[in-house]
Order: sequence, then structure tokens, then C-alpha cells
Amino acid sequence: MHRDTRILEAGYPRPSTAGAFVPPVHFASTFTTPGDPAQYAHTYGRFHNPTWTAWEDALGVLDDGLAVSFASGMAATAALFGVVLQPGDVVVLPADAYYTTRVVAANWLAKIGVTTRLAPTRGDGQLEVLEGAKLLWIETPSNPQLDVCDIRRLVEAAHAQGTLVAVDNTTATGYLQRPLAVGADFVVASDTKAITGHSDLVLGHVTAAREEAALALRAWRTQQGAIPGPMETWLAHRSIATLPLRLDRQCASALELAKGLSANEGVEAVLYPGLASHPGHAIAARQMRAFGPVVSFDLGSRVRAEAFLGALTVVREATSFGGIHSTAERRARWGGDAISDGFIRFSAGCEAVEDLLEDVQRGLNAL
Ligand code: PLP
Repeated sequence: MHRDTRILEAGYPRPSTAGAFVPPVHFASTFTTPGDPAQYAHTYGRFHNPTWTAWEDALGVLDDGLAVSFASGMAATAALFGVVLQPGDVVVLPADAYYTTRVVAANWLAKIGVTTRLAPTRGDGQLEVLEGAKLLWIETPSNPQLDVCDIRRLVEAAHAQGTLVAVDNTTATGYLQRPLAVGADFVVASDTKAITGHSDLVLGHVTAAREEAALALRAWRTQQGAIPGPMETWLAHRSIATLPLRLDRQCASALELAKGLSANEGVEAVLYPGLASHPGHAIAARQMRAFGPVVSFDLGSRVRAEAFLGALTVVREATSFGGIHSTAERRARWGGDAISDGFIRFSAGCEAVEDLLEDVQRGLNAL
């Protein structure tokens, strides 16, 4: 069966008798369990929930591994760090990684004696600082600068010296890019973004290549308690079936938008791995099915960026990305990234591309 069909089918029962087509949501803090609890699949709501399992089945198909769902992308990140790293270990992060991932390393990993080394995603710069590391954390395309690295090359170098590899696959998702298929040990993602895609959920997950690691992540979740809600996971499971459909349109629109912006003299730089001019284009074309819904570009100054955003009528000014509604924001308003004041992160949604292009032109006309 084609992967897209398996993503759509995963976690849905195929009852032999008549019954509800869609699995129900299980709101349960506890389950009836007389006697020895070991005989039951479900006992207590922090340990397991059938609705999580259906959702994790779908994520496992998406990522080619064993998925564990968490309450947010950062809960998933913290779980992976917690399970893999010990005092004295070294972790290699992208210098351009999602800001909060770097904050967690600086604030919390440092406190327990884990050393962080930072190097750029671009040019596979993390290879330079890999020696002796316990964990290599990759983010490609990186958020928000959309730099790209060669996952297979980094995995081979890391494994040659016994370093584990985790890939933050949030911007691409498992639909566009499959790190476990090229040897990575873990995929981590914020499901708040394209995987659920409707701007109504905060969730995250880790998918492990090996069962032992998945069990350790489950134990972390049970003991640390960063569990997802049943309603959230039910909605997420409902949403993932349309991920291929949504992303096909979003990526096509993002590419068209990136090409249009590059041809505009008022735009100083356009960062999109789908453009032949992008330094990581050849790698992205090899390891991604399409180039993602996010396009970043530089309008040169804060004033110009704010004028652009203020003139948009279809695209909403909001943070986050990957949803069915297009969003854009001046990313430097948050701080923490090495970007200029006029840097815009734009996420193409599922609107008709004509409307998006017209709205962006409206924004550019206001400059
Ligand atoms: N990783 C990346 C690349 C992100 O962009 C984000 C959120 O923006 C996260 C992780 C954290 O995810 P969450 O906000 O779901 O905790």
C-alpha cells in the first residue's frame, strides 16, 4: 500500500461488524481494573490511552518508526534530551536551531553538566564539532533561516564514532523528509505545525528507530507527566490524514511565492530551499519530496516589514507556521535569532495561490 494511503489508514480500526467508522475519543483518567493490574492494557490515564495509541500509530507510519506523543514539541525535545544525555555528555546543536531548543540547552542542560557545542546547519558545519559528542541534533530546513544540511552524510559521520542522531523534522514533516530511512536514530517534531495543520493544537512527538529507545521515552512521559490530552490527540489523528493533501498545495504555493519574491527588487533576500539559488538546494532536492510551506525573506528594515504586514488582508500576522491559513510575521520581534530587523517568516496555507500572490503584492505595494 502506498505510504500516503497508510498515513490515512493508520490507527483506524477495520471492524468486521457494523460500527462507528472513526475510533472514539477516550476521556479516561482511570480504567476499571480489578485484581492484578498487569493483566490490563489500560490502567491509569498518565500511563496510556487508546486515543494516544491510534495517533501514535499514524505518526509511526509517517516517520517509519515507533512514535511517542507529548504535550508539545518542547516536551518532546526535553524528553529526548532527558533520555539520551547524562552529566559529562556533549550535545551538538545547530547554531541556527529553533531558539527555544538552544535556550533549553543553555538553561537546563548546562545545569546538569551537559556541554553544548553550536555550529551552523549550512555546509554541514556541525561535522566540525562532532568529535566525542553523545548526541548530534540536526534541524533541516532550520527555523527560521531555512538552511539545509545533508542528513545522510551527518548520520554516517556521527555513527562512525558512536554518536546518536536526532532530527528536528518540524519544518519538513515526515511527509516531505524521512530521516529514519537514512539512518537517524530519532525524529522529533512539533505537531503544533503542519502535521496537525489547523492552528488549534499544541502537541509534539519523538519517533525512535529502536524499541528500547521508544520504551525509555514512554517511561519518561509516564514519570515526568508531559502527557497529551485525549481530545488533542483525537483531533490530531483526524488532521494527519490530510497532511499529504495540505502540504502538496502549501509547498506548491510557497515555491511560486518564493520565485515571485526573488524577482522583486524591493525584496533584499529570499530564503527557500526550492530556489536554485539557495545554497542547500541540491541537498534539499535529494532528501526532500518538496521544499516545505515556509518562505523567509528580508525587506531591509523594521519599518518596511511592518508596512508589508500591515497591508495584508488575506494572510494573518501570527507566529507559528504550517497551518492551512497563511501567516507571516517579523521574526526579529521575538529576539534570539541571528536575523535582521526586516526578516519575514511567511507560511503558505491552503488558500488559492492567486489570492496569496495578490495579497503579497498588496503588502509590497505598501513599501
Ligand atoms: N522545533 C521547531 C523547529 C519549532 O519551530 C518549534 C516551535 O515553533 C518547536 C520545536 C517547539 O514546538 P512547540 O511549540 O510545539 O513546543
